Amino acid sequence: MTSFRAGMGRLPQGLANTLEANREIMYRTSVKKISQVEGGWQVATEQNSFSGRHLVLALPVNASLSLLTEVETLKPPPMDHLAEARITTVALGFTEEANIPFGFGYLAPESEQRFTLGALFSSHMFPGRAPAGHQLLEALVGGRRHPQRLEMNDDELIHEVYRDLAQLMDLPKPPSFARVLRPPGGIPQLESGYPALLSWRRDLHADQSNLHVCGFGWKGIGINDMTKEAWVAAKRILTDHVEQERTELKGIYF
Ligand SMILES: Cc1cc2nc3c(=O)[nH]c(=O)nc-3n(C[C@H](O)[C@H](O)[C@H](O)COP(=O)(O)OP(=O)(O)OC[C@H]3O[C@@H](n4cnc5c(N)ncnc54)[C@H](O)[C@@H]3O)c2cc1C
Repeated sequence: MTSFRAGMGRLPQGLANTLEANREIMYRTSVKKISQVEGGWQVATEQNSFSGRHLVLALPVNASLSLLTEVETLKPPPMDHLAEARITTVALGFTEEANIPFGFGYLAPESEQRFTLGALFSSHMFPGRAPAGHQLLEALVGGRRHPQRLEMNDDELIHEVYRDLAQLMDLPKPPSFARVLRPPGGIPQLESGYPALLSWRRDLHADQSNLHVCGFGWKGIGINDMTKEAWVAAKRILTDHVEQERTELKGIYF
């Protein structure tokens, strides 16, 4: 329930502000290959290659796996891809006439057979997300059980989401604003094979003191989990201290 006035993008922007572009940070530069070299790691992009003592892979788990499986000097991971839940967000704006209940939103259990997985009452959480006199709802569609819904076009999605939400609360028709946001990646799922993947990463960290694999989907999916993982990686680089991982029970989100 925490964000910045201009949205979560402010976090990476703020971190990048202190770095010199094209020297300390490269934008729009995709890493194609990583390899182990004497004293460290080499990272190859389309145009260049960079070497360093430590390599931190802070990528979504599947992006990391595709790079790591190609490293001949490492034991291959037990899987090359973790299942993902693809989600589309349908943002609907309304005037103050809309009677959006108190609270931050809801998730609908599958047994209720609804079109949307749930909705965030975004302007209740963050009033600046909608212009004065307006309110914003963000509905989530798709997930592991209904990936075919992501094939629908924008108008169909907006229509179906409005129909579903209007059964749950009083919403004027039509919405004053509607936009479909289709994130390029999905949300990695803790499904069969995930414990083996985590223990492979644990062994990798024990064997390779200058390789640090963290990021979206390894040990959680939320920004809070990312922050904890980043802290563990930073501590490892600065102190060589390998944090003992505790077994945790985690909920499944979508
Ligand atoms: C639909 C959706 C809703 C979410 N809602 C919430 C929420 O409400 N609250 C919450 O806490 N979290 C939420 N999350 C999760 C949150 O977005 C992630 O935890 C966070 O973005 C992960 O940060 P990251 O920096 O590890 O990875 P990312 O933000 O994924 O950044 C990784 C970057 O690496 C780049 N990259 C990938 N491969 C390469 C390569 N080979 N070379 C170079 N660059 C590469 C990508 O382009 C990307 O810019 C949501 C995620 C999704 C998909």
